Amino acid sequence: MAFRILKLTPNFARMMSTNATTVGFVGLGQMGNRMATNLINKGYKLNVYDVSSDACDAMKTKGAKVFGNTRELAKSSEFVITMLPNNDIVTQTYEEMIKDGVNSNTLFVDSSTVDPNVSKYVQKIVKAAGASFVDAPVSGGVMGAQNATLTFMVGGTTDEYNKVKGFLEGMGRKITHCGTTGMGEAAKICNNMMLAISMIGTAETMNLAIRMGLDPKVFNEIINSSTGRSWASEVNNPVPGLNPTAPPSDNYNGGFSAALITKDLGLASSVATETNSPIPLGALSHHIYRMMIAKGLGNKDFAVIYDFIKNNSK
Ligand code: NAD
Repeated sequence: MAFRILKLTPNFARMMSTNATTVGFVGLGQMGNRMATNLINKGYKLNVYDVSSDACDAMKTKGAKVFGNTRELAKSSEFVITMLPNNDIVTQTYEEMIKDGVNSNTLFVDSSTVDPNVSKYVQKIVKAAGASFVDAPVSGGVMGAQNATLTFMVGGTTDEYNKVKGFLEGMGRKITHCGTTGMGEAAKICNNMMLAISMIGTAETMNLAIRMGLDPKVFNEIINSSTGRSWASEVNNPVPGLNPTAPPSDNYNGGFSAALITKDLGLASSVATETNSPIPLGALSHHIYRMMIAKGLGNKDFAVIYDFIKNNSK
């Protein structure tokens, strides 16, 4: 009897390996629950944990196994991904998760936006416990998480990047190796500082143009085919009505909150102080967004800065 040797295409080979892979997911909020759902849809076995039992129950109905603590979750997972709010929670979660020991083949991935020094500390304690860690923060927001089109910025060794790339492709479209531990967070923080500056710049420019008598639609077409173009002008223009499906056209609901960009600008200020780098516009943006929060606008999309500038124009 003749045997035919089957040639596996890379995609087929990946599908076969993902089906056998168990992923632990910690932090099932706005981003995490969508990212975890994509992994389930792609055939991964999911172990989940969140301090919110509602968040866990929602994932259980999709087929995930809920754990009562992160220590047991990590021991039963080949990859562990954390998607948590801030520096302190990420640090505490990792200290707790690894304190009873880890499997040496588990690769831990933190996709939260935190200080690169937190990533370096966590990498050190995970390595000392015998496993590996990469930082892999994301860009693309809730829609990117929903559609599995996130950009992942990875900090770690080339070997770790190669191990984690296929798994991250289950949640994202572009997976870039940014350098050693913490460099993923460095890229993320710098990108978001640029985003905040360009959003404020777009808002004040649009307001000036409108007050001078320009039609916002006409002027926006000019910006977007000229050198003033940015994501803020093209995709999420802060003037209501210019991007009909974007948050500014829905009273700034949904989207990327002013509270989150303020947090990211705080991280930028901290690393700028540490590296003695002048960030005059980054620091001013931080100040402006802190005012937005003080005005009770923390939950609104960060494009709400346009409303603030417009209302302060006489
Ligand atoms: P979120 O507040 O919606 O979700 C955080 C989740 O973590 C919640 O479900 C919360 O219950 C859980 N949690 C809090 N403490 C915990 C603990 N000790 N153990 C386990 N779970 C805990 O936040 P999000 O919008 O999903 O953002 C998560 C991270 O991703 C943040 O670092 C944020 O900066 C970053 N991020 C967010 C966006 C966005 O558009 N929302 C985009 C890119 C990056």
